[in-house]
Amino acid sequence: SSAIVLEDVWKVYGKPPNETVALRGVTLEVGRGEFFAVVGPSGSGKTTLLHLVGGLDRATRGRIVVDGVEISSLRRDAELSAYRNRTVGFVFQLFYLVPRLRVLENVELPLVKRGVPREERRRMALEALRLVGVEHLAHKYPTQLSGGEQQRVAIARAIVGKPRVLLADEPTGNLDASSSEVVMETFRRLNRELGVTIVMVTHNLELIWNCHRAAKLHAGRLAGVYTPDRYEELI
Ligand code: ADP
Ligand code: ADP
Repeated sequence: SSAIVLEDVWKVYGKPPNETVALRGVTLEVGRGEFFAVVGPSGSGKTTLLHLVGGLDRATRGRIVVDGVEISSLRRDAELSAYRNRTVGFVFQLFYLVPRLRVLENVELPLVKRGVPREERRRMALEALRLVGVEHLAHKYPTQLSGGEQQRVAIARAIVGKPRVLLADEPTGNLDASSSEVVMETFRRLNRELGVTIVMVTHNLELIWNCHRAAKLHAGRLAGVYTPDRYEELI
């Protein structure tokens, strides 16, 4: 069975006559344990797609199922919020770490919200930091870290609650080439070792070589889904 299913998904922002149709009938499946890329020009609907899958916003029409949960039929905000906390982890272009908190405390934050006891929280946060290779930075503050290190801390925070699906929006958009490579290696390892399904939005086509498949959006429509043997067609 698939980790993510989208069936004829539409997203319309605003009201007539000032509406923007961001997604136009997207149908797509992402397999369990897949590392999946979403590419396409600016404004093609990549971020919108990621937000819908992550339950940050609702589709106007269509069906979305993530890890067996039909999120497109969740009507209450509390239900969608519970889904977000339980099933998905987010990584953004800007790292959004809390500057006054130490690295370890930043990674513990999602567990605080869940009411996980302190000792357990600490143990889980250290384990997440170990998985992304920055356990030694646990007691530093975010401002003492390089961009690549901060993004790995943000990834630790995204996986600390053991989500089934990790969603990344331009995760290397703010990083230099060598930090980008370390972050991509981190995603590959988490995908391989934990089997977490990853969906990554990027406009950097070099990065899709890390992924099992890549979907291309154009003006809100799915223009194609590519396997590595056909990536040359995208570049
Ligand atoms: P991409 O991530 O590919 O750059 P987006 O999903 O951000 O594309 O945007 C797709 C289209 O939807 C664009 O025309 C954008 O301006 C519009 N859009 C995105 N978010 C909103 C919003 N909250 N309100 C109105 N229009 C939006
Ligand atoms: P990206 O660089 O990832 O494509 P954008 O710059 O398109 O993202 O959008 C950044 C944020 O602003 C998104 O979360 C989107 O929801 C929002 N947004 C984008 N376009 C619009 C718009 N026309 N009106 C309101 N919000 C928008």
